[in-house]
Amino acid sequence: MNIDKEYFQKLFLEKFEAIHGKMISEASSLDCYVTLGAIIRDFISRKWIATNQAYAAQGEKQVYYFSMEFLLGKMMERNLIYLDLKETVAEALEELGIHLHEILSIEPDAGLGNGGLGRLAACFLDSLSSLQLPGHGCSIRYKYGFFEQKIVDGYQVELPDSWLKNGNVWEIRKADKAVEVRFGGNVRMDQNNGRTVFIHENYDAVLAVPYDTPILGFRNNTVNTLRLWSAETTMREFDFSTFNRGDYLNAVKYKYEVESISQILYPDDRHQEGRTLRLKQQYFLVSASLQSIIQRYKKKNGSLQGFAEKVAIHINDTHPVLAIPELMRILIDEEEIDWDEAWRITTGTISYTNHTILPEALEKWPIDLFQTLLPRIYMIVHEINERFCRELWQRYPGDWEKIHRMAILADGYVHMAHLAVAGSHSVNGVAEIHTEILKKQVMAEFYEVFPYKFNNKTNGITPRRWLLKANPSLSRLITDAIGPSWLHHSTDLIHLMKFADDPSFREKVAAVKYSNKLALAKFIEDKSGIRIHPESIFDVHIKRIHAYKRQLLNILHILDLYNRLRENPDLDIFPRTFIFGGKAAPSYYQAKQTIKLIHAVADKINHDRTIKDKIKVVFLENYNVSLGERIFPAAEVSQQISTASKEASGTGNMKFMMNGAITIGTLDGANIEIRDAVGDENIVIFGLAAHEVLDYYRHGGYSAWEVYHHDARIKTILSQLINGFLPAAQDEFKNLYDSLLYHNDEYFVLKDFAPYADAQHRINTLYQDKNRWTRMSICNIAHSGRFSSDRTIGEYAAGIWQIRPVYIGN
Ligand SMILES: *Cc1c(COP(=O)(O)O)cnc(C)c1O
Repeated sequence: MNIDKEYFQKLFLEKFEAIHGKMISEASSLDCYVTLGAIIRDFISRKWIATNQAYAAQGEKQVYYFSMEFLLGKMMERNLIYLDLKETVAEALEELGIHLHEILSIEPDAGLGNGGLGRLAACFLDSLSSLQLPGHGCSIRYKYGFFEQKIVDGYQVELPDSWLKNGNVWEIRKADKAVEVRFGGNVRMDQNNGRTVFIHENYDAVLAVPYDTPILGFRNNTVNTLRLWSAETTMREFDFSTFNRGDYLNAVKYKYEVESISQILYPDDRHQEGRTLRLKQQYFLVSASLQSIIQRYKKKNGSLQGFAEKVAIHINDTHPVLAIPELMRILIDEEEIDWDEAWRITTGTISYTNHTILPEALEKWPIDLFQTLLPRIYMIVHEINERFCRELWQRYPGDWEKIHRMAILADGYVHMAHLAVAGSHSVNGVAEIHTEILKKQVMAEFYEVFPYKFNNKTNGITPRRWLLKANPSLSRLITDAIGPSWLHHSTDLIHLMKFADDPSFREKVAAVKYSNKLALAKFIEDKSGIRIHPESIFDVHIKRIHAYKRQLLNILHILDLYNRLRENPDLDIFPRTFIFGGKAAPSYYQAKQTIKLIHAVADKINHDRTIKDKIKVVFLENYNVSLGERIFPAAEVSQQISTASKEASGTGNMKFMMNGAITIGTLDGANIEIRDAVGDENIVIFGLAAHEVLDYYRHGGYSAWEVYHHDARIKTILSQLINGFLPAAQDEFKNLYDSLLYHNDEYFVLKDFAPYADAQHRINTLYQDKNRWTRMSICNIAHSGRFSSDRTIGEYAAGIWQIRPVYIGN
């Protein structure tokens, strides 16, 4: 935007007084934050209105991305950068004696997500708007986002994330757009003009109130909408007295129960939560979103016959899969459309992304719970299942076992992934290998029936948040070298290869990395008091703590390195700082033990003077988007060491690569595509391949004890877990020890240990050739363009949604 400093200062002072009713000299940072937020919102509002007018007038197809999670992070600096106002505003405020960076730090992260899945949804919204595509997000306005992690005595402690406590400058409540969502009750059948009708009665009604957040595109005029639903009672406050005379307490309890639906984000990543409240949340999201989409559509188009040609609905994993029976319900019960036509519209509208093959994450709901909570939806799922099984019977006559394996209703459960495949027109995996595993193994039987539905869309990340915003000095350097086109066409980063062998460019890249490391070192010292050497290798493992992500492999290797250093303090290794971060699900015992183990090892190593500070171990608490923005720019080694076949894609790997870190990783998820992009010489790969892991699971043949008996290093480190070597309570790590030996090491930590130690040794050698290392780093940045979510969203738009850009004028 074209706004000069003086004009902005005038705006700011006027707005400040109007909002706060006091003079600027009495301003707190929060007052300034609220004022600046209001000004930015005014700028965005004009574009928002223009965008909505253009969408309504042009009637182009639009996509709605249904997701239980959107991990947005902070919005203010992003919006300033996207409006191209950051410098002007910073200077203008500075002249008023106000520091922009202090205002920006006031904002809480919008942490409405657990990790990768929620962050992907946020990157997708960014790309939709930045590509001028008509696409919106739908989710829940959780009062409490993902918990805040504190570390006390090496243990994770969870604190509530009350991100709304100071209000939210970005949202607009749309009370007039509220809709009703119905739970429980019973369904009565009746006849009406020769048609069987279904009447849902005795239900509990919940009011879903939308709060809209504008999603501004990068330096364009597109502003799409993220609509978050909040649960409220349908009763007005004074109705409470009619609840029953003297029943005030029950009335308040009722209000509390209704509001609990949008109270909290479940903190389980890749784990199915079987609680009724979670199923309520899922239905609440899809029912409210579908009702509002259909209302708007009908206002313009009348009949719903052409719905699938104008509306695409995407479900992020199976969490919103009830969109399928809910759309059927609306079409059949409310619009009086017959089953076959309703099914054509529904499957034509809905597409589905699978995010994981971990069995503990596959959603299934007990039929009795499902039926009690959602009686009419259950009837529809039952009918979908009947018809689906009949089709299978035609195709595989007599093969009851196969039909049983594929059924939507089986063994007392509703199988949500089966419903998703049957009721959508597209099923995609999130990296090439993941899609292949879906087609050939996990969903092979579905692939045989619906081969045309399956496709791959490798995940991506927005280079505007993860490079431009997070790493401004590297971004400047890139733009100085190759121009600014990479901000719109990320594959233009490839032009950096022209400078890969230019000594002066290499030096500049290395200098930027060093200054980012200094900044992180300072942050770490301020936070934890641990002093780290900025010249040491910054080796980073940040992601959710999960057995399959194998933080255990990393920390056991560190313990081994420490043992070798104690034996020989002059061991030839380059100084290294191991940085961890990540949250464990509150009920995931083994993940929490892993956090404690990392702290116990860190304690031991960081206090041992004899190893001459050659290694340091740091755990940064409360990993979230904002902490990530500090860490990725300073990282040199990116740990992507999941058990092969288990990490569907990963996106952290892409953020590291784009910031010039070198990956040490397994051939899993998008690591494989990163290797294909940069070549073997610019990545360090180790360990079992996915097919080897899957073969072991299928045919057996792995013995952890055998590995243990043949590797003296492993014997030593495992005994150190249980012999009091580490500062921790007695038996603290017995469980981890048992999982590795007595439960035969499900994640192949011991099997991959020696290959991993070798790979780390290769890193150690490579790093000491500074020129070569910086060249590798430049190669990674240059080839990271294909991992932009702009590429991903372009593929979804053309291949699944059939949507096109809508140009919004000034
Ligand atoms: C990118 C991101 C993730 C996903 O990281 P993976 O390494 O792919 O698991 C999780 N949490 C946050 C805060 C992120 O930014």
